Amino acid sequence: MARYTDPVCRLCRREGLKLFLKGERCYTDKCAIERRNYAPGQHGQGRRRKVSEYAVQLREKQRLKRMYGLLEKQFRRYFDMAEQSKDVTGEALLTFLERRLDNMVYRLGLAGSRAQARQLIRHRHFTVNGKRVDIPSYLTKPGDEIAVKEKSRAKEVFKHAVEASQRHGVSEWLELDVGALSGKVLRLPERLELTMPINERLVVELYSK
Ligand code: SF4
Repeated sequence: MARYTDPVCRLCRREGLKLFLKGERCYTDKCAIERRNYAPGQHGQGRRRKVSEYAVQLREKQRLKRMYGLLEKQFRRYFDMAEQSKDVTGEALLTFLERRLDNMVYRLGLAGSRAQARQLIRHRHFTVNGKRVDIPSYLTKPGDEIAVKEKSRAKEVFKHAVEASQRHGVSEWLELDVGALSGKVLRLPERLELTMPINERLVVELYSK
């Protein structure tokens, strides 16, 4: 499957926003946004021009898409699903993104970033409700139990991830059992609980043109 392979800090600098794509480094002063908060490239520090409404909407969509580590086709599929749902489209879109297994593993603190979560899931280290799942886009639901496979529990990567998650905390709609390296989806998040600075209505406006 196609994926983004260039340095991910460039994406944050392009968006002028911390997208938290590199795990622990994002919380330190080594974060590229802390050191060089301007767009990458030759003209990154140039004078900002007046931006059109379309450009603002496009930027917001790119931010959200990059935050969850998706490419256009996958992201658009979630938008189409959100549009067909009975809920408010923008909020439904966020809910679909949050329900992805790679996001839940990251939110539980069983991986340092969504990208790492995706890799660990593909390498078959996780189960959902006792069954092995190696599809990062698997859509979880309330009540689901996500666990590191028994044979994989001794891996250092999980020890480091859980130590970090204890420092940063686990989302309120999830429950983490540190000893068992497993977690439960208690419920889906309310919009107000998703505190990343994203205006999903701009994304809806962009795709509704
Ligand atoms: Fe973004 Fe993290 Fe890189 Fe900072 S360290 S620029 S938050 S990916």
